[in-house]
Amino acid sequence: MAAVTYELIHVCRQTGARLGRVHTPHGSFDTPAFMPVGTQASVKGMSPDELKEVNAGIILGNTYHLYLRPGHELIERAGGLHSFMNWDRPILTDSGGFQVFSLADLRDIREEGVTFRSHIDGSKHFISPEKSMEIQNALGSDIMMAFDECAPYPCDYDYAKKSMEMTTRWAIRSKAAHTNTEKQSLFGIVQGSTYVDLRRESAKALTELDFPGYGIGGLSVGEPGEVMNAILEEITPLLPTHKPRYLMGVGSPDYLIDGSIRGVDMFDCVLPTRIGRNGTVFTANGRIIVRDAKYSEDFRPIDSECDCYVCRNFTRGYVRHLFKSGEMLGLRLATWHNLRFLLKLMENVREAIRNDRLMDFRNEFFLKFGYSKKTGVPVKNESP
Ligand SMILES: [Zn+2]
Repeated sequence: MAAVTYELIHVCRQTGARLGRVHTPHGSFDTPAFMPVGTQASVKGMSPDELKEVNAGIILGNTYHLYLRPGHELIERAGGLHSFMNWDRPILTDSGGFQVFSLADLRDIREEGVTFRSHIDGSKHFISPEKSMEIQNALGSDIMMAFDECAPYPCDYDYAKKSMEMTTRWAIRSKAAHTNTEKQSLFGIVQGSTYVDLRRESAKALTELDFPGYGIGGLSVGEPGEVMNAILEEITPLLPTHKPRYLMGVGSPDYLIDGSIRGVDMFDCVLPTRIGRNGTVFTANGRIIVRDAKYSEDFRPIDSECDCYVCRNFTRGYVRHLFKSGEMLGLRLATWHNLRFLLKLMENVREAIRNDRLMDFRNEFFLKFGYSKKTGVPVKNESP
């Protein structure tokens, strides 16, 4: 039996969204789930206890960053990533591919793998499917991702086809190289850019390889939201019912809800932590830039409907003051609230699935929150 298994609990009669639970060697988490990103073995500004307080069931670590610094061998000597960062719940690691393609310099992509220069010190490195598995096996994550090429957007058909086919061959090599199958599960990644026939071919080939779960990569890279939704509608019905589906790099409230409606179980994104550090916070009425002068004497919580530690104890005016004063607590409080906002949103999504009313919930949520530009409806950026 695979280290990681998926239990389907209920399918929403209104939308087809899935309520489920993923079981791992470090415990279980409920789905659909949002995974906070701990790039450098740390979700920026949040301690493990605080992550539990906001109800994070699983977090993500970045293979590329941890390989470069402090190095996967060091983390292995520390007892693995869970022990190194003192997080005892599930961890998912990506393959390193996305960061190699987006951050590193002088990439040379070949069938064998990718040669690149570190964005930190310019040193030369080579990552192949085998190397990615070696690194992820050393990190000891519960869920590992196959090494893939995330094709750029836009991308012409021929490139997308060749890239998708190479990603399938890399998935076969990843599976062969993965050694610790009793404690770690390896997910394949569906690619194929915005071309539905390529996506279908990729999903079919990977399903035949019988991975314990599937990533859907190469989306939310600049394409319109309706293109992403159309691809999800094509792909998720082709994936096995009793295995989790993970939409990679997606974390805005609209995409979390619309992805859940299309049968996605897991999501991750740096969005809540990154915008939090810039002084932007989610509220039930849309995003606000809490560092703006207009909040200096606003003594309400960031979001009066939020149940988080920050909203129970501090005001917009105080958080704004912390940002203006360069106090590190400001970044932490904004991050803390944003994570809780998205994790609470996923709790509400799961509740709505259980009650067969996810479409109603979606409509109620967006009536107040506003839509994103990507969905074609103007954003309501500022709440009163
Ligand atoms: Zn809050």
